[in-house]
Amino acid sequence: MAHDLLDKYDTIYREDLQIKNMVKNHKFAKSISDAGWEIFFNILEAKAKRTLGKRVVAVDPQYTSQECSGCGLIVKKTLGDRIDKCGCGLALDRDINVAINILRKGLTLAC
Ligand SMILES: [Zn+2]
Repeated sequence: MAHDLLDKYDTIYREDLQIKNMVKNHKFAKSISDAGWEIFFNILEAKAKRTLGKRVVAVDPQYTSQECSGCGLIVKKTLGDRIDKCGCGLALDRDINVAINILRKGLTLAC
């Protein structure tokens, strides 16, 4: 997957997740560990460093899942809420909304 992403994109923005702290939450520890996020990020970043013109940028994860990518309003939701619905009319898959927010934060860093 890391190879495929770096073939398609020159810059990959990701959340700067504190995975060691996240696995202290017993409710999510097993699923986070099983998904291998930390190993994946390490592989992705190592491959990017070895490839000219490729980079991985970690952005502040604060509010990426709560902020409406359409208007910027903070819309509180639970992990079970899979659709981001906002008073501005935006209705979007939660993961797509987060991805847009991560991209926006990353592009702001680049300026
Ligand atoms: Zn909105």
